[in-house]
Amino acid sequence: MEKSTEYFNVADIFGENVFSDAVMQERLPKKTYQKMKQTISEGKELDLATADVVAHEMKEWAIEKGATHYTHWFQPMTGVTAEKHDSFITAPKENGKVLMSFSGKELIKGEPDASSFPSGGLRATFEARGYTAWDCTSPAFVRQDAAGATLCIPTAFCSYTGEALDQKTPLLRSMEAVDKQAIRLLRLFGNTTSKKVTASVGPEQEYFIVDREKYLKRKDLIFTGRTLFGAMPPKGQEMDDHYFGAIRERIAAYMRDVNKELWKLGVSAKTQHNEVAPAQHELAPIYATANVAVDHNQLVMETLKKVAGRHGLQCLLHEKPFAGVNGSGKHNNWSITTDDGINLLDPGVTPHENVQFLLVLTCILKAVDIHADLLRESAADVGNDHRLGANEAPPAIISVFLGEQLEDVLSQLISTGSATHSLKGGKLETGVTTLPDFMKDATDRNRTSPFAFTGNKFEFRMVGSQDSIAQPNIVLNTIVAEAFAEACDFLEKADNFDAAVHDLIKRYATEHYRVVFNGNGYSEEWVAEAGRRGLPNITSMVDAIPALNTEKAVKLFEKFGVFTKAELDSRVEIEYETYAKEINIEAKAMIDIAGKQIIPAVIKYTTALATSLSSVKNACSGADTSVQEELLTEVSSLLAKTRAALVKLEKVTDQGVHMEEGREQAVYYRDEVKSAMDALRAPVDKLEMIVDKDMWPMPSYGDLIFEV
Ligand code: ADP
Ligand code: MG
Repeated sequence: MEKSTEYFNVADIFGENVFSDAVMQERLPKKTYQKMKQTISEGKELDLATADVVAHEMKEWAIEKGATHYTHWFQPMTGVTAEKHDSFITAPKENGKVLMSFSGKELIKGEPDASSFPSGGLRATFEARGYTAWDCTSPAFVRQDAAGATLCIPTAFCSYTGEALDQKTPLLRSMEAVDKQAIRLLRLFGNTTSKKVTASVGPEQEYFIVDREKYLKRKDLIFTGRTLFGAMPPKGQEMDDHYFGAIRERIAAYMRDVNKELWKLGVSAKTQHNEVAPAQHELAPIYATANVAVDHNQLVMETLKKVAGRHGLQCLLHEKPFAGVNGSGKHNNWSITTDDGINLLDPGVTPHENVQFLLVLTCILKAVDIHADLLRESAADVGNDHRLGANEAPPAIISVFLGEQLEDVLSQLISTGSATHSLKGGKLETGVTTLPDFMKDATDRNRTSPFAFTGNKFEFRMVGSQDSIAQPNIVLNTIVAEAFAEACDFLEKADNFDAAVHDLIKRYATEHYRVVFNGNGYSEEWVAEAGRRGLPNITSMVDAIPALNTEKAVKLFEKFGVFTKAELDSRVEIEYETYAKEINIEAKAMIDIAGKQIIPAVIKYTTALATSLSSVKNACSGADTSVQEELLTEVSSLLAKTRAALVKLEKVTDQGVHMEEGREQAVYYRDEVKSAMDALRAPVDKLEMIVDKDMWPMPSYGDLIFEV
């Protein structure tokens, strides 16, 4: 465990393990540095000679940090990162010493064995060969841990014929798409100076922390990341006393260590606080360019897990580690900004006069309305099924929260054809003379909306806590690029731009207003209302997947070169497979735990009860043994139910395993296997409430979430 008495200056350590712009400027020959900059900022191709120089300096720098190996760090479609380590060592020289080398070729291209990663059919058609290619817009870094120090090179991962086998490639493609179309839109408004528009992302990461010793006694957590059994403790989150509560010292020391690790890696971890559920916390970095943010979020997740071990803790990134307790998500804050600092989502003080903003806003409304199914799909993962559409926030229905001010501007536009004023925020008066009065925002927050406008960005709140944020941002960038492109197609041809843009904004606002909802997104009424509005309500991952390769989706993604149809088809296949596999693991873990731990423990308990019953009777024939008898009857009955449910689960799971991979199998796992799992859990959770705590084979919810 690290001593928490060691203090440090953040500025000294921030980015110390990153091959950053500053490092490049300092270490690379001027010409090489300029070429690198051009490649990074203008997307120019990098020549091998330059790459050789960069690689050499990168290696020297990394070796100074203790690196012995380098790895192409990439994000296959498993949701986590992958890497293949190579040492810098080359053949020993005659004097017995070794040379450390790293060439430009090794920097820009790697060749991991693609066959061990999911490819969803692409592999069958296109061989196993796969390449990783350096994404030089996300800086390389040195990771130092117990395994030593490794130079990590962020890369994209493609098949031999160029199909994307990862999250990064389509993300970069989507960033180019939104850049191009946004620039087109800006030019229409007379902007001739901005050269590039970048999507920025700030993800807020939620997670649970539990004691590692206790974690190790829970096979369900070990195998699946969530508890598959567990009765609710007497106290849950009803008191709301954890939210923003003071952070306990053990957790604080952990967070401090996490921050330090992240800062060294140039991840600007900024806020941290307790979340709604006991033992739940949140970490948010300062927003960054979308691809860097995606990489950094992976580093955040890895670091949260790794550092926890050093503090005797375990970090749970699963969306729903504990039934009945709030789950974890990731809020994906997204905006688009020009290279000269104009945020296209900034409404300014008087949004009703800001025509460019209103066009951007209504384009986004249109995009979200038309492609609600794709956005929903982008947030689907197996764990998130416990949140989206279950009795928990946010709902599975995509709607947009605009806030009073913008809603009012759009209403004016729709009803009268023009917006003449914007609501103002006004003064917040505390009624205490010593507290400063300040101007409040024109709009309050809405924590129940899945897609909320928050001042100068949109917050997509559906994403799962353990999922990569690549997919949501690929979808966001691409659907917005499409809406911009369609607006530009129309406006570039218009004779009277002012009149045309005015009409277009009004048309988009009117046609897509149905997706705007400022009320309580968690309410039953909203589900009914959304149904009347014709908004999709897709309540499970299995039903979300088909959105990926509808005709509409294929047209969208092919138009902007983000995904080919083959790539989309392959992703659909992978998602169905992933779903069935993960539920299968959960079912098998339940079978294992129920059969080997729970049933034997309950039998021990009934034996103890029976022994007690007969010894009391022996000692005193007139004694009242009704409690023992009732308990014995009840426990035995639950035990029989448990055993029957276990047998049933074994049977349905076995059938599932033998089905062909694909949609049908995934549907089977959702409908048959999951309900058999629920049926097994029910009697076990009841037993947990009755059986002697000392005999229960694993720590309880109470032990896990209240005693960290
Ligand atoms: P909120 O209170 O709205 O959740 P925070 O200030 O906590 O806002 O920020 C949440 C996340 O949003 C942070 O990661 C922050 O850096 C990010 N963020 C702030 N502004 C933007 C922006 N313009 N574009 C993208 N992300 C942003
Ligand atoms: Mg937020």
